[in-house]
Amino acid sequence: MFQAFLLKYAEVGVKGKNRYVFEDALVRNVKKHLEKISGEFDVSKINGRVFVQCANYDYEETVEELKKVFGVVGICPVRVLDSMDHDDVVKAAVEFIGENYPDKNFSFKVETRRANKSYPIPSMTMDADAGEAILMAYPETHVDVHNPEVRLHIEVRETVFMYSKTIKGCGGMPLGTNGRALLLLSGGIDSPVAGYMVSRRGVELDAVYFNAPPYTSERAKQKVMDLARQISKWTGPIHLHIINFTDIQLYIYEKCPHDELTIIMRRYMMRIAEHIARQNDLLGLITGESIGQVASQTMKSLFCTDEACNIPVYRPLIGFDKQDIIDLSEKLGTYETSILPYEDCCTIFVAKHPVTKPNLNIIKKSETKLDEKIDELFKTAIETDEVVLIGNEER
Ligand code: ATP
Ligand code: MG
Repeated sequence: MFQAFLLKYAEVGVKGKNRYVFEDALVRNVKKHLEKISGEFDVSKINGRVFVQCANYDYEETVEELKKVFGVVGICPVRVLDSMDHDDVVKAAVEFIGENYPDKNFSFKVETRRANKSYPIPSMTMDADAGEAILMAYPETHVDVHNPEVRLHIEVRETVFMYSKTIKGCGGMPLGTNGRALLLLSGGIDSPVAGYMVSRRGVELDAVYFNAPPYTSERAKQKVMDLARQISKWTGPIHLHIINFTDIQLYIYEKCPHDELTIIMRRYMMRIAEHIARQNDLLGLITGESIGQVASQTMKSLFCTDEACNIPVYRPLIGFDKQDIIDLSEKLGTYETSILPYEDCCTIFVAKHPVTKPNLNIIKKSETKLDEKIDELFKTAIETDEVVLIGNEER
């Protein structure tokens, strides 16, 4: 029924001289996505849109995949006609409406665009003829040129194509147009969503997970890998750094007041993450924090956590309520995995009454109790970093 898709993009189109960089990235990304599914696809740029010709493909699967390409705002299924003859085009318009709209009670308008100027029939004539033929065939329909419910687009190029529906794409900016960043990925609900949101602005991701064996299990680690795999459907392949954090946590536990444990631990997470980011040309850190959600995310706690590192930290969920985040994670399909009840390194060493209003000077003073040994543990943690490439297998 449909032989092609027209992909619409918005922001990508307004980038002045850089426009071609964004368009080329978009074309490349669409190709990469379609390589994952079966079918023959030819992807090209035409006039501010991407055109995908398809053969031997599955419609639903292809639409699902195109919905995962950042930068695509709308996906229009297109019928490509095998004849350019005026009468055939008019007939095809009638058929198109017949097949796509079982309920004919709607207003419509035909909009012809004649990009191929050598085509002998003016677009107004085509609009009028196709419109009239549709009205004749389906008397329940009516024409509304100002605010039609259905716009039937006829485009005349080397061939003629027709489309009327736009399926919503995920929007954002094409991947690869805005560098890479490091996502602090826990097994929770928030961080996968945070990674998705930043990546949607064209940023490729790597991730770090702080693991605390034997206090946390292999299953907890597997859960994080599963989450990384799920978001990689949008974000592309992710290098997941798995850092063994146990000894650092135990040492902090031994030396520092227990109510400050979470904050100090989080400061070490940020420091290690910064180190990994700098070693790998990653331009910032991303966390799933949101103001006030838990003790470690009050303004004062965030003030202390943020102070530990010297690299931009992006917290895209900062103003979100938990329910908003849950809704997003359900949409992404990460929610079911996130709520699996495996232990997390933060919950194992957590104090009964963590400070909610930590004072930076006091925290810093507590940290001085950690002597050179912490530097050694830091070094070992980095040296034993296990890196797994996730989301590359389908490519
Ligand atoms: P999430 O649902 O993302 O786990 P949370 O509500 O449990 O978040 P915290 O435990 O305070 O909140 O963690 C805040 C942020 O710190 C997380 O969103 C994540 O970015 C990062 N983080 C926490 N624990 C880990 C971990 N074990 N490994 C990597 N990052 C972590
Ligand atoms: Mg968590």
